[in-house]
Amino acid sequence: MTKCEYLTARCPYGCEVWLHPKAVIPHADRCRGVPWTESRRPVTEVLLANEDADDARALLPSSVLVKPNISGDRLLNPRPGMRLHDSAVQGIVVRSPLDGITGRRWWTVARAAVTEGSSIEAAFCPERFDALERSLGLEGRFVRCEVCGDDMTARGLRGHQRSNSVCRFLSDAAEVRTLWEFGYRDPFSLRHDGVPITWTELSSRAHWRNRTHIVRFRLWTAVLYRSAK
Ligand SMILES: [Zn+2]
Ligand SMILES: [Zn+2]
Repeated sequence: MTKCEYLTARCPYGCEVWLHPKAVIPHADRCRGVPWTESRRPVTEVLLANEDADDARALLPSSVLVKPNISGDRLLNPRPGMRLHDSAVQGIVVRSPLDGITGRRWWTVARAAVTEGSSIEAAFCPERFDALERSLGLEGRFVRCEVCGDDMTARGLRGHQRSNSVCRFLSDAAEVRTLWEFGYRDPFSLRHDGVPITWTELSSRAHWRNRTHIVRFRLWTAVLYRSAK
C-alpha cells in the first residue's frame, strides 16, 4: 500500500474509523455507527490455541468451553485480507463462570488447580475463588489493563498495549475523542477553512505544526487541527 496523499477524515457517524475524504459519503451506508471494538470478545472469555486449547478440552468441564465464533474473531483483526490463523480457528474459548474474573485469570487458576490435584469446584464459587488462587501461589499474577479491562502479566502489559488490536484501537479512539472535545477537528471537517488537506501541503506549511496533533492508529494516521477559535 502506498501512503495516502490525502489526509484522512474521521467517520462522522460514530464508528471511529478514519477514511479517505472521498470514502466518507459511500461509507454512510455501511457504517455500523459504533466502533468495531464494541463487538469484541468480553474479557470474561479467553481464546486459547494449540496446547492450551488441548489442555482446556482435557481438563475443564464443557460448561465453560465455547467454540470460537469466527466472524466475531475476525473483527479482532480488521486488517484487510488478513487470514485467520488455523490455531485460532481450531482453538477454544474458555468462559469464566465468575462475573468479575477475566477468562485469562480464571483459566490460569482452573488449570493450576486440576494440574496440582486440587478440586476445581472452588473455581466455580465466587467466595472461594480468591482463596484457591492464593493457595496455588497465583495471587497477584495479573495486573488489569486500564485501557481494555483484560488481565495481563505485569511483564506482558506494555507489549499488550502496544500490539493488541482492541487495546490500541480503544486508546487511540479515546485520544481522538478527547482532542475533539477540546475543539480539534479533522481536515475534512475544516476543509472550507483553508487547512492543509494533503500531506504535502501540511509538511510544507510549518506554521500548521503547532496546531496539529497526530494520532497513529494501527491502520491509519489521524491528523487533527486545533480549531482557530
Ligand atoms: Zn463509520
Ligand atoms: Zn488492554
